[in-house]
Amino acid sequence: MTTHHRLVIVGSGPAGYTAAIYAARANLEPVVIAGSVTAGGELMNTTDVENFPGFPEGVQGPDLMEEMRKQAERFGATVVYDDVTELTFEPGAHSLVTGLGSRYTAEAVILATGSAYRELGIPNEKALSGHGVSWCATCDGFFFRDHHIAVIGGGDSAMEEATFLSRFASKVTVVHRRQELRASQTMQDRAKADPKIEFLFDSEVAEVHGEDSLTGLTIRNVITGETSELPVTGMFVAIGSDPRTSLFADALTIRDDGYLHVEGRGSHTSMEGVFGAGDLIDPVYRQAITSAGSGCSAALDAEHYLASRPQAAPAPAEAATAPANA
Ligand code: NAP
Repeated sequence: MTTHHRLVIVGSGPAGYTAAIYAARANLEPVVIAGSVTAGGELMNTTDVENFPGFPEGVQGPDLMEEMRKQAERFGATVVYDDVTELTFEPGAHSLVTGLGSRYTAEAVILATGSAYRELGIPNEKALSGHGVSWCATCDGFFFRDHHIAVIGGGDSAMEEATFLSRFASKVTVVHRRQELRASQTMQDRAKADPKIEFLFDSEVAEVHGEDSLTGLTIRNVITGETSELPVTGMFVAIGSDPRTSLFADALTIRDDGYLHVEGRGSHTSMEGVFGAGDLIDPVYRQAITSAGSGCSAALDAEHYLASRPQAAPAPAEAATAPANA
């Protein structure tokens, strides 16, 4: 069944839900296609969020996303737990097909598909995913009680994962390819003060060992080339993420660094009536609060765009305003 809408938002992180709150308050009755397993985005895999304004004691990532969803729904947004599998652009009637077989057409689309965890790209990493190799400490950390765990990366995510995992692990070794960490000072200080966390700097993972489950890593010092064995049974990869553009990379302008191109500080993409928001368009800041701000900008841009168009009456067969599986 096809339903026609003024605005469909793809993605349900801070950008998607903030866009939905603004668009719903502007009476655009947006549909948010939130994802079937990834609804709420990256913050669903986070514990304490201490830097989102308005929460002086911090807030749990999943709780924050739940509140954003409720706020969007309160003003009339419809949240659908489904995945967009096909997107075709046609000004005035962009078309989205989902994994559950629904089809939506929309005058305007906000893309807020966020980013996907980066992989090291070395043999055995993927094969042992779920068998000692993980990208999510809050999802899998519990299984590593009293294990020696490696965390790969030097950014905020790596510090957050290491600090979280030290609750369970006997020891956490952070492996970082440079001497300086990229993480914010607060996160670095917290990790460095943790007696269970040690650091291997100027180091990279050369080999991942194990057949049925992870048994250890070979670590290479990038300065000397020397290798050593790290007998860990868990490896958490926290080396950043890349924007999720595969659904529309052929149809929209993508920047050289892989992010969706938008005009200036706004959210207009290279396609009329299609707007980008959140991590998908932001190679620099990538914070929950900047994503939320960018979702707001996209909703305002979409609202202005829609206001400039005559409101087309949907064809009778497509007159439903709520999707079948909402
Ligand atoms: P990030 O800041 O891009 O850091 C990625 C880290 O992984 C860097 O240290 C990088 O090394 C390393 N790295 C990248 N590719 C690698 C490879 N192929 N092999 C080995 N190491 C590799 O990513 P992030 O830590 O996921 O953070 C992303 C954004 O989210 C940041 O803006 C961060 O501030 C934010 N964030 C905030 C919080 C919080 O405030 N609570 C928590 C998590 C994330 P180099 O340093 O050498 O480049």
